Amino acid sequence: MNELPRIGVGIDLHRLEPGRPCVVGGVAIDSPVGPVGHSDGDVVLHAACDAVLGAAGLDDLGTLFSDRDPANAGRASSEFCTEVVRRLAGLGLRVVSLDVVIETERPKIAPHRASIRSRVAELFDLPTDRVNVRGKTGEGVDAVGEGRAIRATAVALLVSV
Ligand code: MG
Repeated sequence: MNELPRIGVGIDLHRLEPGRPCVVGGVAIDSPVGPVGHSDGDVVLHAACDAVLGAAGLDDLGTLFSDRDPANAGRASSEFCTEVVRRLAGLGLRVVSLDVVIETERPKIAPHRASIRSRVAELFDLPTDRVNVRGKTGEGVDAVGEGRAIRATAVALLVSV
């Protein structure tokens, strides 16, 4: 039944701390806080990769790129996307649609939404209109609402090529 589309979901969360570089969806954002992570802590790309890997039936991002491997320290998450797309192609699959919701108090996503959208599309080899990115706040509730964390949720649709 390879011809049927496959759907996958990915969720990622990173703590936010002052003075950290802030990369969201492959876009460097000027922000007083940034994600703490072994790599660059890019929640959008981590969630998107996990959604794609989940749909493909592959191991998750943390298994493929362990945070205990020094080779992944400070690594740009865009490299993870390239590797995920490469593995998909090896299985005869490709991404046809990605939808991402980012929850954070800071940085504000709206001013960067268009650039994040086009960068994510580029990284997953998709036309921009096949990717959507939206920002939400956390209504003051839980770690996200209190500004201590940023979370992204992604859904990916794959088809056989
Ligand atoms: Mg992560």
